[in-house]
Amino acid sequence: MMKRTVAIVGRPNVGKSTIFNRIAGERISIVEDVPGVTRDRIYSSGEWLTHEFNLIDTGGIDLSDEPFLDQIRQQAEIAIDEADVIIFIVNGREGVTSADEEVAKILYRSKKPIVLGVNKIDNPEMRTDIYDFYSLGFGEIYPISGSHGIGLGDLLDEVVSHFPTGEDKPYEDDVIKFSLIGRPNVGKSSLTNALLGEDRVIVSDIAGTTRDAVDSPYTYNGQKYVIIDTAGMRKRGKVYETTEKYSVLRAMRAIERSDVVLVILNAEEGIREQDKHIAGYAHEAGRAVVIVVNKWDAVEKDEKTMSEFEENIRSHFQFLDYAPIVFLSALTKKRIHTLMPYIDRASESHSMRVQSSVLNDVITDAVAMNPAPSDKGKRLRVYYATQVAVKPPTFVVFVNEPELMHFSYLRFLENRIRAAFEFEGTPIHIIARARK
Ligand code: GDP
Ligand code: GDP
Repeated sequence: MMKRTVAIVGRPNVGKSTIFNRIAGERISIVEDVPGVTRDRIYSSGEWLTHEFNLIDTGGIDLSDEPFLDQIRQQAEIAIDEADVIIFIVNGREGVTSADEEVAKILYRSKKPIVLGVNKIDNPEMRTDIYDFYSLGFGEIYPISGSHGIGLGDLLDEVVSHFPTGEDKPYEDDVIKFSLIGRPNVGKSSLTNALLGEDRVIVSDIAGTTRDAVDSPYTYNGQKYVIIDTAGMRKRGKVYETTEKYSVLRAMRAIERSDVVLVILNAEEGIREQDKHIAGYAHEAGRAVVIVVNKWDAVEKDEKTMSEFEENIRSHFQFLDYAPIVFLSALTKKRIHTLMPYIDRASESHSMRVQSSVLNDVITDAVAMNPAPSDKGKRLRVYYATQVAVKPPTFVVFVNEPELMHFSYLRFLENRIRAAFEFEGTPIHIIARARK
């Protein structure tokens, strides 16, 4: 089922980020061991009952160049744009302020469900002071305490009750969903246009949810594709679209909905720190990745240029060692035809299931060739492996004691599995478990 999105809005200091952290729970502190990647504080996931959802703290989208009221207005607009359900937070100790009324005014205009949380109600006696907030006109009000974790259950019950029920699968399984991510001006829109053919860029606004309407479906060589979040790449003229946090948020949401992510680099400018962050999100999300070096036409070349560029990429993006690299020009369309086969291949690897018997032959051979080193007199024993998931391919290796499985040995097993099955373009996950 499609993951829903919940956004938190409200004026500064009402407790949005406290509540965000509370709902996101431990998840937010899980930072994978990838250079340069830290999980963004404004975007996480939460869970309530059987629902897992994305969570956005709009207060973390820094619009500090804007006047105060414009900032909170824009944050409310972002919530309306991005979320299925909006949590509107006010400060129960201060009563209704004019800034609250400003936010409310913008939220009235949206058709999205709004759940009003009256925060900083740290004890039951304080609940008598909150009736003023009914005047904001959002129906039921929920007294909560973000810092004490009180009342959030009732609030979340209401939030998830607004999630549409039933299956909601925007695309068939045989459609390859991919997105283009990268810094501004690397050529995402140009490459999208080149792939779609200039005349096909107009995004249809028929059928389905608003979210479907931002994607571009097309067929190439008999294969169906969807470019995810085409609209997000365009400059739609809203002020907040140029802020970095917002573009990161947008990229993360596109990544989440994709099978394959094209990380676009600008050959003219070379590799920047921000490129690595963006690529890190795709890796961390477990998506297949193809690295695209665009604007290859603009580079002075000799016979060594390409391999030098490639080496440079490999050294900066070590965590993406599985990603193929494609050089092309969206402008001249040169080498553009080389891209689609890499996307196909990455998508195939991403959803590949291997036979258990063959997998275990590979593991047995690997262990025989290079037994795990012993640690404090104890040696890791590897018994059996099985693939438990696809997208990305995920393997459980049953061992005597999982603590004895070191990163370097996992890496070794990963490399053997990769070599045996040609998982090109996809991360693979290996988990060590104790055999029962
Ligand atoms: P934001 O600007 O809306 O994201 O607000 P923050 O989450 O940064 O919180 C602003 C201040 O209010 C901080 O000092 C928090 O510790 C405090 N705060 C947040 N939630 C509560 C609450 O439930 N009770 C009390 N007493 N203080 C809170
Ligand atoms: P986006 O912000 O990533 O969507 O980038 P755009 O597609 O808007 O491109 C930014 C600029 O780079 C525009 O002026 C494009 O014409 C230019 N550009 C895009 N692709 C190429 C390319 O392959 N070669 C050259 N020389 N310029 C390009």
